[in-house]
Amino acid sequence: MGKEILISVKDISKEYKMGEVKVKALKNATFDIYKGEFVVILGPSGSGKSTLLNIIGGMDTPTKGKVFINNNEITAFEEKKLTLYRRNEIGFVFQFYNLMSNLTAIENIELATEICKDSLNIENILKDVGLYDRKAHFPSQMSGGEQQRVAIARAVAKNPLLLLCDEPTGALDYETGVSILSLLNNINKKYNKTVVIITHNSAIGNIADRVLHMRSGEIIDTEINENPTDPERIEW
Ligand code: ADP
Ligand code: MG
Repeated sequence: MGKEILISVKDISKEYKMGEVKVKALKNATFDIYKGEFVVILGPSGSGKSTLLNIIGGMDTPTKGKVFINNNEITAFEEKKLTLYRRNEIGFVFQFYNLMSNLTAIENIELATEICKDSLNIENILKDVGLYDRKAHFPSQMSGGEQQRVAIARAVAKNPLLLLCDEPTGALDYETGVSILSLLNNINKKYNKTVVIITHNSAIGNIADRVLHMRSGEIIDTEINENPTDPERIEW
C-alpha cells in the first residue's frame, strides 16, 4: 500500500488565555495521517484531543504551527476558504449527535448535504447505516445509537475527505458503542474514507490502523496495529 499523506500537522501549539491564566492545550504536536487510514487519538480527559480535532477540522486555529491537507495549508486559509473546507471536506461526528430536533432523520442529512458540492445518495447512506426504514423519524423517536447513526450518515453523505469523530461512543452503552465503531470501520473500508476517532477509552485503540497517544497536550507515542481488532471483539 503506497502511503499518501492526507493531513500533515506540523508543530502545532494552542494556548487559551482565561484572564490571567494561560492553558497550554497543545504543545508542539507533529504527525501525518494517511489517505484511507483509520486512526484513533487516545488520551485522558483534558489532554487536548478535542482542541486538536477542531484545529484539523478548521473550527479552531492554533497559536503556532501549520496544518496541511493534500498539501494545502488550511492554517493560512482566509475565512471564506475555511468555510468551504469545513463544508465540503470535513464530516464531523460528535459525542451528543448534534441533530436538529425539529427535522426528521432524512431532513437532517439533506440540510447538511444540500450546500455541499459533491454529496452522495442519501437513501443509499441511510441503508448503509441501517436506518432506511426510520428515515421519517425525528431524533426524539430514536435511541441514542440510532441518532448517532443518523449523525454518521449526515457526515458521510457530504462525501468529505475526512471523517472526524469526537468521542462518538461516549454517550452510548457498550453494545451500542461497539456497533457504532463497527459502522465507522465499515465506512472506512467501503468508501476508503479517512477516519479519525478521538477517545479516552483505551480499548478502542485496538481497532485502529494507528494509535496516537496524547498526554498533557503532547503526542507522546505512536503505535501501529499490524492486525487491528474487529470492533465486535473489543471489550471495556
Ligand atoms: P480533551 O478533548 O482531551 O478532553 P480539550 O482539548 O477539550 O481536551 O482540552 C484541553 C485543555 O484545554 C483543557 O485543559 C481544557 O480545559 C482547555 N480548553 C479547551 N478549550 C478551551 C477554551 N475554549 N478555553 C479555555 N480553555 C480551554
Ligand atoms: Mg474532548
